[in-house]
Amino acid sequence: MARHTVTLIPGDGIGVETSAAMQRVVEACGAEIDWEIAEAGAHCLETEGTPLPDSTIEAVKRNKVAIKGPITTPVGTGFRSVNVALRKTLGLYVCLRPVVSLPGAGGRYDNVDLVIVRENSEDLYAGVEFEEGSEGARKLIDLCAKEGAGTIRPDSGISVKPISVTASQDIVRYAFEYALKHGRKKVTAAHKANIMKYSDGLFLRVAREVAKEYEGRVDFDDRIIDAFCMNMVTDPSQFDVAVFPNLYGDIASDLAAGLVGGLGIAPGANIGKEYAVFEAVHGSAPNIAGQNKANPTAEILSAAMMLDHLGELEAAARIRRAVTEVYAAGECLTGDIRNLTGSDKPAASCTEFTDALLTAL
Ligand code: NAD
Repeated sequence: MARHTVTLIPGDGIGVETSAAMQRVVEACGAEIDWEIAEAGAHCLETEGTPLPDSTIEAVKRNKVAIKGPITTPVGTGFRSVNVALRKTLGLYVCLRPVVSLPGAGGRYDNVDLVIVRENSEDLYAGVEFEEGSEGARKLIDLCAKEGAGTIRPDSGISVKPISVTASQDIVRYAFEYALKHGRKKVTAAHKANIMKYSDGLFLRVAREVAKEYEGRVDFDDRIIDAFCMNMVTDPSQFDVAVFPNLYGDIASDLAAGLVGGLGIAPGANIGKEYAVFEAVHGSAPNIAGQNKANPTAEILSAAMMLDHLGELEAAARIRRAVTEVYAAGECLTGDIRNLTGSDKPAASCTEFTDALLTAL
């Protein structure tokens, strides 16, 4: 069996607890992983003067694969989100979020098994913005009027929504390749092309063109994003792989997580052509940090995705089987799941849950 070196960024808040739990499970699952610990987060501001030290980026580049706990976005320090910075610096253009029902996790459905593929680099998250009253906003408003593009009120703040052919091709192609590799039958593209003809319209046009390359191998359909949300809530089983521009993908993945048991069990990954960073969907949960209450399932399932990526399929499957077993038994589950299921059984701590998982491995 091959040994792999992985960069582990524990993060801050509950990340410290969920990363420790994840490490214990991965070390027991049969894969041979060496960890290179790298720091990022609020605590680095004091020691290094930045929440994302260069040495951490170098460590990810060196090992090509990283797993990270959540990181608090510092407010009012002039630093942008570490997560956004990591995605940009490492070219992580795919945000991949599988959404699968777990028995006993309090989800509304027990038959959800879909994969969300979200574009990670552009759209309204590109960070191209003009503050209300600024010179830039004024010039842009004038330009729009001059070009006949439309009237914008002079007291507007403006966020620009760029959607490119290149990024749309890359993300849709990733969705189809993922479908082929994982035996999935259909890709659905979600958009609002009826309203935003030149951005979402472009995304849909590109999606249809790429879909032609896969005709006969993977089916394709598309949905307007509002209809997609309604369809998700009424019958999520109709979706298989769904691909989105950035903003809709962000919202849809939380919606989907909410249908199967919440943030505590939602894993994810940010993937680029060279590097991959695996991380849970949830944030650093300051309201429960340091109390041994966090549910580590999401980060543990993110580690299973990482093991798949490393070719350690059996170790990944072992982790997923153990997670399913512990949830189905229902004896040792954390407070977030107890709240969702309305169970009056006591909530397990993060450590107790991890112990149960290790026993089931
Ligand atoms: P959050 O996901 O941290 O918490 C939302 C709610 O879900 C809270 O009630 C929390 O207690 C609960 N929750 C989340 N994960 C849980 C878990 N594993 N077990 C049990 N309960 C859990 O979202 P937020 O409060 O909006 O964000 C807190 C901080 O995290 C912010 O600074 C935000 O910017 C950051 N954040 C980071 C990431 C990341 O690093 N990838 C992602 C999202 C948010």
